[in-house]
Amino acid sequence: MLDPIQTTTSTPSVDVSPKFAKGVAAPEYVAPDRATIEAGLAAFRAEVLANLDPKRRAAVEKREADTPVSMRANYIEAVGGDSRAAAVKAFCYECCGWQREEVAACTALACPLYAYRPGVEVEA
Ligand code: SF4
Repeated sequence: MLDPIQTTTSTPSVDVSPKFAKGVAAPEYVAPDRATIEAGLAAFRAEVLANLDPKRRAAVEKREADTPVSMRANYIEAVGGDSRAAAVKAFCYECCGWQREEVAACTALACPLYAYRPGVEVEA
């Protein structure tokens, strides 16, 4: 018996999925509520911490506790290892005492992260 998904060998040359079909309205975007966002962040944090060895996890949790609440999600993203941008952002904020305006006004012209600090366009 054939698998129903593999009953045809031809593939459509045009994407006829509902999102592109004429006359079909795209579903209305509904922004997630605060509880949903917080639950997602908590799940992400738990996943990141679960992937760290116990010694590093303890160090990260201590440093996270010293980080302002508004910047903890970025810190956890940086620790997760998938975003160099988050790592630079976390480092610069910590370097400047978590003062966003101080990062933008950084005068350490020789710092290797200078061109990549948050709030600044990368120069070509
Ligand atoms: S670029 Fe400036 S704010 Fe960022 S780490 Fe270097 S000295 Fe600190």
